[in-house]
Amino acid sequence: MKVFNFNAGPAMLPAAVMERAQKEFCDFNGTGCGILEHSHRGSAFQAVLDSCNLNIRDVFGVSADYDIVYIQGGASMQFAMIPMNLMKGAADFVDTGTWSSKAMKEAKAFGEVRVAASSKETKYDHIPDFAEWKLTDDASYVHITSNNTIYGTQYRSFPKTKAPLIADMSSDIMSRRVNVSDFGMIYAGAQKNLGPSGLALVIIRKDLVARTPENIPTMLKYTTYTENNSLYNTPPTFGIYMIKLVTDWMKEVGGLETIEKWNNEKAAVLYKAIDDSNGYFRTPVKKDSRSFMNVVFRLPTEELEAKFLKMVTENGMIGLKGHRSVGGLRASIYNAMPLEGVEKLVDLMETFRKNN
Ligand SMILES: *Cc1c(COP(=O)(O)O)cnc(C)c1O
Repeated sequence: MKVFNFNAGPAMLPAAVMERAQKEFCDFNGTGCGILEHSHRGSAFQAVLDSCNLNIRDVFGVSADYDIVYIQGGASMQFAMIPMNLMKGAADFVDTGTWSSKAMKEAKAFGEVRVAASSKETKYDHIPDFAEWKLTDDASYVHITSNNTIYGTQYRSFPKTKAPLIADMSSDIMSRRVNVSDFGMIYAGAQKNLGPSGLALVIIRKDLVARTPENIPTMLKYTTYTENNSLYNTPPTFGIYMIKLVTDWMKEVGGLETIEKWNNEKAAVLYKAIDDSNGYFRTPVKKDSRSFMNVVFRLPTEELEAKFLKMVTENGMIGLKGHRSVGGLRASIYNAMPLEGVEKLVDLMETFRKNN
């Protein structure tokens, strides 16, 4: 059965990418074996790694001032690696939800965590106004979460900060055009918009890499990755291969300009259905902070939510249950979700509302 997969992560990948991976699985590029079976030091994998890097530079607009590396341990490992490598004394954090808080928790082991702004008091329903942020002069960096996967909020623009801006873009990386040069570092667990779980894509400015201290474990140093082109040890080769295919696909469809247009369109259709439902469907998120990736919404009662979830599941829509910590519904509409999936969901929402 064809399903529309609204999982928050690991999430659906473009159908064309899944088909290509299947086709190449047992025989990569006429080499007689799969990419999983190739040496990470061989020419077949080296070509994959090189073109993955080039694709990311090209699609995302990453200049030569930045290194691109792939590190195991997902985004959560970065929560610790960032302060371990880059924090000298204190850093500023903007707390916009579960993932921001987890990043702050890890950083406390390495220095002073200063909360520059937070939306915790209003249940993380918005991105705090830049004008209200209390940034400090001697902060090593400013850490933000560009899209809050669980609460359904997203930055519409980014502030200019004196200290390097570091963004956890796990759930909206390469979903729209951003000015990479506004950031000191961008990182993302791969399993939302890029590929398989288990690795993080890290884009880091060279002057930040230079802060890496000597006396930390080799595998936790940024320099280990940047100086060896992610090949100090065996990298997650299949994950990198999948990111290469996903970024090939991004180029084929017209790059981030096209993808951003698609994402705007999908989010507009879904939020319109919510806004036009006379309060039957409602989102707790403030309008100017709505996520275009994770659309969080509620129904009048929890009983109706359970009934709605059952109905959509029977109609081939999976992954719509909200995060266990907040309840309700969540439609994750990452790059790979076609407009058709969102339109079908909206039709089902309409039908359900009329009948219930
Ligand atoms: C999914 C997610 C993470 C966690 O990623 P892991 O790869 O599981 O560590 C961190 N931050 C954000 C914003 C996420 O969406």
